Formats: sequence, structure tokens, C-alpha cells
Amino acid sequence: GCASGEKKKAEAELYAMDTVMDLTIYATNAEEALSAAQEEIYRLDGLLSYTRSDSQVSAINRGAGGAVEVPVEVMDLVSTAVAISQRTDGAFDITVAPLVQAWGFYTGEYTVPDKEALDEILPLVGSGLIRLDPGAKTVELEKTGMSIDLGGIAKGYASDVLVEMMKDRGVSSALLALAGNISAVGTKPGGDPWRVAVRDPRDGSAYVGILSVSDLTVATSGGYERYFESGGKRYHHIIDPKTGVPADSDLTSVTVISQSGTTADALSTGLFVMGMDKALALWRASKDFEAVFVTQDDRVVVTEGIADRFEFTGQSGGYAY
Ligand code: ADP
Ligand code: MG
Ligand code: MG
Repeated sequence: GCASGEKKKAEAELYAMDTVMDLTIYATNAEEALSAAQEEIYRLDGLLSYTRSDSQVSAINRGAGGAVEVPVEVMDLVSTAVAISQRTDGAFDITVAPLVQAWGFYTGEYTVPDKEALDEILPLVGSGLIRLDPGAKTVELEKTGMSIDLGGIAKGYASDVLVEMMKDRGVSSALLALAGNISAVGTKPGGDPWRVAVRDPRDGSAYVGILSVSDLTVATSGGYERYFESGGKRYHHIIDPKTGVPADSDLTSVTVISQSGTTADALSTGLFVMGMDKALALWRASKDFEAVFVTQDDRVVVTEGIADRFEFTGQSGGYAY
């Protein structure tokens, strides 16, 4: 091909996977790469959506109590989700769906379920109740009434697929923002690392710091994105699978930085549920991610491996070792 062509900028904002996405690509073939990326996002949304009745996830959920044949890609992602559930001691768990449903987060008809309602649902929650048969390519939810929701991992998976597409096309400069899952492909056109802000969970227009990253995905989970208020209390959309109620740890947001967008997305959700101490213990035992934590008492804690690429801009901060 013609290696000396001028890099062009192509940018699109789209609505998919229940959120707003922003794709920016600098390349000689930017327009082609952009439309291929958009198509791919819609394809994945069609496979992985909880709310769309024609998705593979809906087929698995309708078939609960029995085995459902799905594309290998879907089985592999469910398998990865189960592995991350084990890694986070059940804090991340895609079988949380009946709980998310009970709180009204799928319909927007919010309710605070009483203890009896939660006690009925909790036995349906647990990744140990998912059976995978790689030979038959089936996923089985063991109990009727179970359902899975890939909302805490699908955007990260999509970002990995898009990053591969960019590599295949020789794109060395792109920023793919799938809501709170941001993949920095290569560098900015001038060669500097991409700069990704970590939002202040208490103030949507402010941030606590800036990450300088290249070939990494930055995923943030927090209680501030989707929530409702009832009786003077705030209830957000990340549920602790063990209790059935919105996670109430010492954290207000968790940002995970990883070469794997799938890992970053799922772990940011899981670590938010786990709280600082358990999250740091998992980080110390791992080699595949770094993190930025914002605590309820407004501290910002950055793990050692990313410290030199994080610039504090606001609140008091510190480092974890
Ligand atoms: P966002 O969807 O805002 O990017 P997350 O990646 O943290 O945020 O995913 C939250 C979504 O994942 C929820 O909307 C819900 O559908 C699902 N979910 C809620 N609690 C959990 C959990 N403990 N483990 C896995 N998925 C969860
Ligand atoms: Mg997530
Ligand atoms: Mg997410």
C-alpha cells in the first residue's frame, strides 16, 4: 500500500449498548476504519444485549433451566465472565440480572425490593450455576428464573474487538470511548500518549487526575452514573451479588487500566463491589491491571504500576504499593 499518505481524522458519536460512544480515528483509511468499527459495535450489541429479545443473551435467558447453543464468541465471553467472577470472589457476577431487574434498572420503574423479595432471588444468583459445554457450544443456566446480563463486561469486550480491527487496518492512532471504557490505540497523531481524564465521582464536570496512556484500555465504574433516589437514599446500578443491594463499599469509583478491555471493564465493576482492601489485595496478586480508586472520604489512590502516568489535578492523593 501507499505508506506516505496523509493521516485523516474521522470521528463519530453513536448510541449503542445503552450508552453514548465516541470514536476518533487518525489514519489514511480513517473513514473506512470508522464505519467498520461502527458496524461491529452494532453487531456485538445485537449479540450481547440484555434488553433486545433477539440477542443471544436473551436466548440463553429464555432457555434457563436448559442448555442453549450459542456462537463460540458468546460462549467464550460468558466463560471469561465466569473466570472473573471467580477471581473477584463473586463480586463481579453476570447472574446478577434478576436482582438488577428487581430494582427496576432495566425498565426505569425503580423500586426498593423488600427482604423477602431479595431472599427469593438470591438463590438464583451465582456463576457456579452456569454450565458451559465447549464441545456442544452450549451455555446452560441451571435454574429456571436465572438470567445473565453482560452489561458489566460487554463494552470492554467490544473495545478489544475494535482494537484488533484497528491493528488489522494499520491504524496507529485512535481513541475509542465506549462510554466509561476508553481504549487508547497507539498515540496521538503527533506521537504523544493519549490523555484520559478520571472523572470526579462527585462532580460530573471535574476530574481527579489525568492518565497518559498508549495501547491500554481505561475503564471506570461508579455509583454516580445510573441511580435513583427513594426515601432520601440513593440507590445505584452496581449490585452486590451476595446481598442483593447496591454495593456500598468505601469507594465512589474505580478505574482499571489494562491491555485487555474485557478485564478492565469487568474488574472495574468487581473491584467497586469489593472495596479498597480486597481490591488492593487482588491487585497485589495480579499482573494484568493497574487501578485508580476514589474513596468515599475523597481520597485518590493510584497503584504503583501506573503512578508515573497519572497526574493528580484535584483532591489529595496517594499511592498504593
Ligand atoms: P456501566 O454499565 O455504567 O459501564 P459497569 O461496567 O460497572 O457500568 O456495569 C454495570 C452494569 O453491569 C449494571 O448496569 C448491570 O447491568 C450489571 N451489573 C450490576 N452489578 C453487577 C455485578 N456485581 N457484577 C456484574 N455485573 C453487574
Ligand atoms: Mg464493567
Ligand atoms: Mg462499564
